[in-house]
Amino acid sequence: MKIPPVSIRYLRSILELKDAPPDQGCEVAFAGRSNAGKSSAINTLANVGGLARVSKTPGRTRMINFFSIDDGRRLVDLPGYGYAKVPGEIHRRWEAALEQYLRYRQSLRGVFLLMDVRHPFTEMDEVMIEWCALRSIALHVVLTKSDKLSRGAAMNTRLMAKTRLAGYGSPDFSVQLFSSLKKSGTEEAWEVLGRWLDLPREDQEKTPGA
Ligand code: GDP
Repeated sequence: MKIPPVSIRYLRSILELKDAPPDQGCEVAFAGRSNAGKSSAINTLANVGGLARVSKTPGRTRMINFFSIDDGRRLVDLPGYGYAKVPGEIHRRWEAALEQYLRYRQSLRGVFLLMDVRHPFTEMDEVMIEWCALRSIALHVVLTKSDKLSRGAAMNTRLMAKTRLAGYGSPDFSVQLFSSLKKSGTEEAWEVLGRWLDLPREDQEKTPGA
C-alpha cells in the first residue's frame, strides 16, 4: 500500500482526558515501556526531525501527546510506563488518564505497542495486550531496535511474538520488526497506520513526511 506524503504536527499534551482534542475522526495510539524506542519510532515514522523532542520534553513524558496528520487523523503518544520513582499522586493520575483514554476514546482505531526486541512482553506489556483484547481494540506490536539482534534471532522473536499474540484469539493483532536506526520496517508500519486511519492510497512510491 502506498501512502501519500503526510506532514505531522504537534497538537497538544494533556494529563486528563477532558483536555484532549475533540473525540472526532480517527487516531492511533503508541504505547510502550519507557526506553522501548517509542519517541524514536514516532520520529522515524513521521520523518520529521525534532518531532519526538516534543514527547521528550521534561514533564511531557507522562502526558498524552497528540499529533495531527490532518483535520480528522491523529497519532497519540501515550505515557511510557515503568517510571518507578514517580511520586504516588502523579503516578495515579497518569495511570488513570491512560486507562480512561483506552476505555473511552471513541476515535481510537488501534494501538501500536512498542517493545524492545531484546526484552519483549514485560508485565505491563501483557496488561496492555489484555486491555486491548478485552475491549476489542486492534493491536500492532512493533519490535523495536531490531538492528541489535542478528536477522535470524530477530525473526525468531517475531515468530514467538506472533504465536503468543495468536493465543489471544483476536483477528486484529499483528506484529512486525522495526529499527529506527536502520529505518527498517517503516513501510510495514505505515501500511497498518494507513489501513487503520483510512489514509488515501497513492500509486507512486513516496515516504510519508518526505
Ligand atoms: P522511549 O523512551 O520509548 O521514547 O525511547 P527512545 O526513543 O528515547 O529510545 C531509547 C533509547 O534507545 C535511546 O538511547 C535510543 O537512541 C535507543 N534507540 C531507539 N531506537 C533504536 C533503534 O532502532 N536501534 C538502536 N540501536 N537504538 C535505538
